[in-house]
Amino acid sequence: MRCYPFGLLFADDIDRAEQWAVAHSKLTHRDPIALAACGAMATGMVRILHHAPVEEVLATMVAAARRQSEPTATMMAQAIHEARTGIGPQTTPERLRGWAAHEAIAAAGYLFARHPDDPAAAILEGANTPGDSDSLATLAGALRRWHVDTPASTGGRIEFVNRRLHMTQWPKKILYVDMDNVLVDFPSGIARLDPPVRAAYDGHLDDAPGIFALMDPVPGAVEAYHRLAARFDTYILSTAPWKNPSAWADKVVWVQTHLGEVAHKRLILTHHKELARGDYLIDDRKKNGAGEFPGEHVHFGSGRFSEWAAVVAYLVGTEE
Ligand SMILES: [Mg+2]
Repeated sequence: MRCYPFGLLFADDIDRAEQWAVAHSKLTHRDPIALAACGAMATGMVRILHHAPVEEVLATMVAAARRQSEPTATMMAQAIHEARTGIGPQTTPERLRGWAAHEAIAAAGYLFARHPDDPAAAILEGANTPGDSDSLATLAGALRRWHVDTPASTGGRIEFVNRRLHMTQWPKKILYVDMDNVLVDFPSGIARLDPPVRAAYDGHLDDAPGIFALMDPVPGAVEAYHRLAARFDTYILSTAPWKNPSAWADKVVWVQTHLGEVAHKRLILTHHKELARGDYLIDDRKKNGAGEFPGEHVHFGSGRFSEWAAVVAYLVGTEE
């Protein structure tokens, strides 16, 4: 459904609209049924903007789908035929459900054909299906809405999309968070070491086997991480001692234990933090490349960032 605006942007070049929609689908959805659905939506939108009759719009969509996936085109044609012959929503959307792209585009075509001049009816019928109802309502609503109310110029259409469809929600900024003495209370691990081990590793305690599994979170760190992860594309960027292999394993266990799903597969261990691409790094030191991080270094534990509450207030405030 994200590809239909290519039909708005390239309203004067239907081939380009289709190419861009199909290419964009390939970024994440490479199956022919997804390519077919994206091509159909973009080309259908072009035809709508040129005030083509509904039958012509639907024929264009089916033809675009057929260039990518014959089964998708067949499914669309059957659904459109059912709409034309008066078969109700208890039958066609009930069967299609819309969880996969070919079903969704066929159901959208059905809803579009069934409600020629009533966007609200198309949306409501899509929203009340038992399957992927939000997708069906979105697709049908897009087709119907633009059919009924079409800004004349390309600039007007782009502005309409920006304003009405919330395309201003750009990708989140990337935020990295250090572990030791930022998320992790390093001294709490030292206190839990057996005295003989502590003595043996005096002066280089971060090499003590298992020490990184013994540490508590820094006060407020877990709550802060959750809050920031909701606002930023958040990763943990930490360094594990080169001569303490257990530290590499202990760090992932610590993240799984204290942060869980919110940090799933978001742990990066490196001695070269300067190579990380992003916007912010919360780190208590400048070592291991932190000082050369290409974004903004939020120096945890110093000056205005002495505790997590101040860091969260700054970063959330910056983004508002
Ligand atoms: Mg640190």
